Amino acid sequence: PMTDLINRRRALLGPNMSTFYDTPVHMVRGEGVWMWDADGRKYLDCYNNVPHVGHCNPRVVQAICNQAATLNTHTRYLHEGILDYVERLTATYDDPLKTAILTCTGSEANDIALRMAEAVTGKRGIIATDATYHGNTTLVSHLSKSNVPEVGFGLGQYLRHVEAPDSYRIHDPDGQRFAAKVQEAIDDLERSGIGFAALIVCPLFLNEGFPTQAQGWLRPAAEAVHRAGGLLICDEVQAGFGRCGSHFWGHQKQGVVPDVVTMGKPMGNGHPVAGLVTSAEIMTRFRKSFRYFNTFGGNPVSCAAALAVLDELQDMNLQANALRIGKLAHQRLAELARKYDVIGDVRQSGMVFGAEFVLGHDSKEPAVAYTDLVVNRMRQRGIILSKLGRHKNTLKIRPPMPFGEEHLDLLMTTLDAVLAETPVAA
Ligand code: PMP
Repeated sequence: PMTDLINRRRALLGPNMSTFYDTPVHMVRGEGVWMWDADGRKYLDCYNNVPHVGHCNPRVVQAICNQAATLNTHTRYLHEGILDYVERLTATYDDPLKTAILTCTGSEANDIALRMAEAVTGKRGIIATDATYHGNTTLVSHLSKSNVPEVGFGLGQYLRHVEAPDSYRIHDPDGQRFAAKVQEAIDDLERSGIGFAALIVCPLFLNEGFPTQAQGWLRPAAEAVHRAGGLLICDEVQAGFGRCGSHFWGHQKQGVVPDVVTMGKPMGNGHPVAGLVTSAEIMTRFRKSFRYFNTFGGNPVSCAAALAVLDELQDMNLQANALRIGKLAHQRLAELARKYDVIGDVRQSGMVFGAEFVLGHDSKEPAVAYTDLVVNRMRQRGIILSKLGRHKNTLKIRPPMPFGEEHLDLLMTTLDAVLAETPVAA
C-alpha cells in the first residue's frame, strides 16, 4: 500500500513532490503531541508547529464546527468574527501595530507586506538573508536563494541577499556585523536606481538555524533600515504566538518594533488562516495604492479557529510552558553534547531547539549525512523531527506547544540511544 500511495502521488501530483524520510510516513490521525500512522504506530511529534495548541485540539475543532454549521462567507458582508479576532490579535502587539489583513497563507501575507513597502517608499528593493524561506508567490519565492528560479518574470533584480547570522561560526555578538551587511545591500540598491524598500527577516532566524543572540540583536539592522527610509518586515510565521517563550512575538524578544509583521502556520492550528499587522498609517497608504481583496481570508470559520487558538494559548499557559520546556531541553542537549563529540553546538529559543552536528570542533565542518541518518533513525524509533540551518546539519525540534516534560524525556532518551548507535563516519 505504501508503494501504491507513492506511485499515485507521482502520477497525480507530478515529480519532485517531496516527502520526509527515506521511507515516507503515512499519517492517519493526530491528538495533542502524538500522531498515528496507517499501521497504528504512534509517533511523538517534535516537529510540527502548525498544530500549535495540539493536534485536533478539541476547542479549536469545536469552534470550527460551530461556525461552519452557522455561516461561512467572505469579508464583503459585515461580521463580528473578523473584528473580534483582530481586536484580540492586535492587543498582543505594541503600538502602532493595530490594523490587520487576513489571508490564507504566510506567503500571501509576505507578498502583501512587500507591496506595502513598495506603496510606502515608492521603491522596490528587498533585502533578505541568504538562507531563508518566506513562501511561494512569484515575488516571495525569489527570497529563497536556494530556489534559483529558471522562471519568475525577472523579479530577481529587485532582491539582495545578506549573509545569514550564524552564532556558531560568525562572530557578531551585538548584530553590528549583520547591520553593516544590510547597510551595504541598501547602498547597492540605492546606487542601482532600484532603491531600497524593505528588509524582511524572521526575527529569530529560525529557518537559518535559530542562532543564539542577545536580546536586542536585531536593533542595529532595524536602525539602518529606518535611517534609509525603508520598512522592517518581521516574518513571524514560525517565530510567533508565544513559541519563543520569553515573549509572545519574536520581534519583541529582539527589542524592535517592525513596520509590518506577517503571521501564518500556527495561527489557526492547521486551519489555513494567516495575515499581517501594521500601523493605521501604512495600512491606509496600501489601501489607497492597491485594491486588495481575498475571497477566503478572514472568513468567519477561519476567525473562529484563530480565536480559539488564542484562547487556548492563554488558558493553558502555553507560552510559559514553552519557556520552561525550552530551558530543560537546552540542559538535556548540553548533557548530550558533553557525551557525543559530534554535537558542535546547542541552541534553543523556547519551544524551538536543536543541536548542530559537526565532523570536528575545530573545523566545524557540517556533518550533513550524519544529520540525515539521525533524523531517519529517530523516525524509525517513533520520534518525528527534522533538520535545518545554513548547512542543513542542525536538528529542527519544534513541537506543538503542549509538549511536556515526559515528552521531552522520551525525545532525549531516544536521541541518546540513536547517537550511541550512530558512529560518525570517518
Ligand atoms: N515564512 C516563513 C518563515 C515560513 O517558514 C513559511 C513556511 N515554511 C512561510 C513564510 C510560508 O508560509 P505558507 O506556506 O503558509 O505560505
